[in-house]
Amino acid sequence: VEVAIVTVGEELLAGETENTNASWLGRQLADRGVRIARVLTIPDDRAVIADAVARYRGDFDAVLVGGGLGGTHDDVTMDAVAEAVGRPLVVDESVRERVVETAAAYREANPETVDRYDLSFDPDAWAERPEGARVIPNDAGLAPGAVVEADEAAGAVYVLPGPPDELRAVFERIAGEFGGELTATSLHTPMPESALLSHVDGARERFDVAVGSYPSVGEAHNRVKVSGEDPGAIDAAVDWLRDRLDVIEDPDP
Ligand code: ATP
Ligand code: MG
Repeated sequence: VEVAIVTVGEELLAGETENTNASWLGRQLADRGVRIARVLTIPDDRAVIADAVARYRGDFDAVLVGGGLGGTHDDVTMDAVAEAVGRPLVVDESVRERVVETAAAYREANPETVDRYDLSFDPDAWAERPEGARVIPNDAGLAPGAVVEADEAAGAVYVLPGPPDELRAVFERIAGEFGGELTATSLHTPMPESALLSHVDGARERFDVAVGSYPSVGEAHNRVKVSGEDPGAIDAAVDWLRDRLDVIEDPDP
C-alpha cells in the first residue's frame, strides 16, 4: 500500500509554521505498514492543489490532503479536490446543521469574543465537499473532513483539516482504513558509512528489500534499516548483514 501526503499552506513553505502534520501523518501511516511514496507541501493555490491531487491519485492507492478546509477566503482545498476528481461541490443539510451547531456552541462558550468581533460566517463554506464524498466528522473543530473513494482508475482522496489537533482527531476516525505489509528492522553499527556502502549494496542486490543507512549525528553509531513487504526476505537480509557488520546490540542503554 502506497500513499502520498500533501500539506497545504503558505505558512508551511516559509517555515513560519513547522509542518508537524506531515511528520505526524507519516509516522501514523508507517506504523500501519503503509509506504509513504511522496510528501508534498504547496501553497493555498487552487490549481496547484488540484493538479497535485489528480496526479498522485493516479499514481498511488491514496492521497491525504491536510489544510485549507475552513470557510475563510484563503481556504480553497475542498474546491481544488472537487476539481481534481471532477465532481461539483455540494452541501448536505445534515453536515450544515452540524457546522451551525458547533459554531453556536463556540459562541456560547466565548461570549466576549463574539461580542467584541463580528463573527459572522458562512456555514455552507465550511460544510461543502465533493459530491458523493463520505463525511468524516471533526470532533475537535468546525471543518469536517471528507473521503473520495478509490475507483478502478484512481486512488482515494482523504481531506483533513489543518490545525494539528483537528487533523489528528479526524485521522483517528479513518486510521483503520490504512493497513499495509511494510515492516522494517534496524541494525546499529560503529562502522563509518563509507565502510558500510558495499554491504548495503550487497544486501540490496541479494534480497527483495530496501536498505537505508542513516548516520546519527553526535552518536557513535550508524543505523542500517532493512525494510520490505516480505518478512522472510527481511530476516534473510538482516542475517546476511549481521555476518558482515560490527553490530551493537543495544545502542541506547
Ligand atoms: P481553519 O481554517 O478552520 O483553522 P483549515 O483546515 O483551513 O482550518 P489551515 O487554515 O490550513 O486549516 O490551518 C490552520 C492552522 O493550522 C494554521 O494556522 C497552522 O497553525 C496549523 N497548520 C496547518 N497546517 C499545518 C501543518 N501541516 N503542520 C502544522 N500545523 C499546521
Ligand atoms: Mg484556514
